[in-house]
Amino acid sequence: MNILSPKAALITYTPDPVNVCALAARTCYSALPLDELLAKAKTDQADFLRGVIRSGHQSVLEHASFTFYVSDVSRALLAQLTRHRIASFSVQSQRYVSLSKGFDYVIPPRIAELGPEAEAKFEAQMAQMADWYREWQDAFDGDRSANEDARFVLPNACATRLTMTMNARELIHFFSLRCCNRAQWEIRTLAEQMYRLVLPIAPAIFENAGPGCVRGACPEGSRSCGKAAEVKAHYAQLAQEAARKPE
Ligand SMILES: Cc1cc2nc3c(=O)[nH]c(=O)nc-3n(C[C@H](O)[C@H](O)[C@H](O)COP(=O)(O)OP(=O)(O)OC[C@H]3O[C@@H](n4cnc5c(N)ncnc54)[C@H](O)[C@@H]3O)c2cc1C
Repeated sequence: MNILSPKAALITYTPDPVNVCALAARTCYSALPLDELLAKAKTDQADFLRGVIRSGHQSVLEHASFTFYVSDVSRALLAQLTRHRIASFSVQSQRYVSLSKGFDYVIPPRIAELGPEAEAKFEAQMAQMADWYREWQDAFDGDRSANEDARFVLPNACATRLTMTMNARELIHFFSLRCCNRAQWEIRTLAEQMYRLVLPIAPAIFENAGPGCVRGACPEGSRSCGKAAEVKAHYAQLAQEAARKPE
């Protein structure tokens, strides 16, 4: 069977995100009229923006947004993702979309690693839930809200898809929490994919993003994964690779 794992596609983003954020910052610090600000924005603003970010003036990063299409993720991931309030979500509906033909689901790698028997057991459990779902749909036959109530027997493993928009400031925050080894495996996989997508587009914005330990001591304290050096090296390599590509 086709084992699902998170997929993120970058659909669109603010053109010239570095220059847009730099222009926003110059608006704060400069008396120049718009035409001169725009002329400056046509030149390389990366180092100026790096300085602004270092100074802690993070709000200018809210002017650049990134829109992703996320698929092959579980409803368990969805519950965590949508806790990020400074993001916009449009999620496939279990009310409007019938799953009468069965549903896709995510198998945790730990179950797959137990071997074919464990995997088959998990698949049988999913099939049982799909049967229960259809039973309730049939019981509500003709009722417009059949899907709405039948879905109550569906599992967290059930796959979903969504369109999500985050601004650059929120993305950096999201990466610091969800690229961390302490985050749950599925959302961590998704977060790293998203990081790899945005980093080459705007290294000046994202080159120091990633889990908290990339920027200093591990914020997890005694619950640290203990692999900060490894994680730092991994993210430093991603940033180096992105720096070699033109912004
Ligand atoms: C490893 C891990 C374990 C977790 N375990 C649990 C758990 O057991 N139970 C649970 O319920 N959740 C858990 N969470 C979710 C966590 O509590 C947050 O809800 C989630 O990470 C979103 O973070 P956030 O609120 O900082 O982000 P966002 O909602 O993206 O907000 C970004 C930032 O904006 C600011 N902000 C947003 N809204 C407000 C507001 N209303 N008031 C003031 N400032 C605001 C804050 O500075 C916030 O950090 C866990 C998260 C992680 C990473």
